[in-house]
Amino acid sequence: MHPHGTAQSGLAAPLDAESARREEPTGAHVALARNRAFAAAGRHEGAAILPSLRLLVVTCLDPRVDPAHVLGLHLGDAMVIRNGGGRVTPAVIDDVAFVCRLVESAVPEGPPFEVAVIHHTQCRANAFAPSTLAADVERLRDADGISARVSVSGHVYDVDTGQVRTVIPAAAPRSG
Ligand SMILES: [Zn+2]
Repeated sequence: MHPHGTAQSGLAAPLDAESARREEPTGAHVALARNRAFAAAGRHEGAAILPSLRLLVVTCLDPRVDPAHVLGLHLGDAMVIRNGGGRVTPAVIDDVAFVCRLVESAVPEGPPFEVAVIHHTQCRANAFAPSTLAADVERLRDADGISARVSVSGHVYDVDTGQVRTVIPAAAPRSG
């Protein structure tokens, strides 16, 4: 067999390149290696199921919008639901209703809980418009099963400036 880099035929070069690609670690390999460092550091210990900031973020799956970075969230700080556009879909409403039941049963006298819906500029999944954000916030406030103790707010993340701006201040659901 030809050692790498000395193949002479036109066919051998792409095959060599292909086998080299197969040996490269995938993105998942890189992430799992980082997980071993994370587990070894022990910072996962003591995190609770109820988020310490009493916050649930609904936002886009775009990697530029990762709330852990954009909002400086640490492990256990917040619940996060992400989908294309950060839209309030029926599935999101079901998840928020589940969190409401969790909050009501675990900390019935506890501090208020906020759901922050965060859309962003340059979104490929959802051409950003204030009316879309307002509609999503209203849809969640109007939905069945959303506790009156859970307020809902709307925000926009600007991917150019890195800043999140509050567009719709927090308010409790009307139906709750
Ligand atoms: Zn997006």
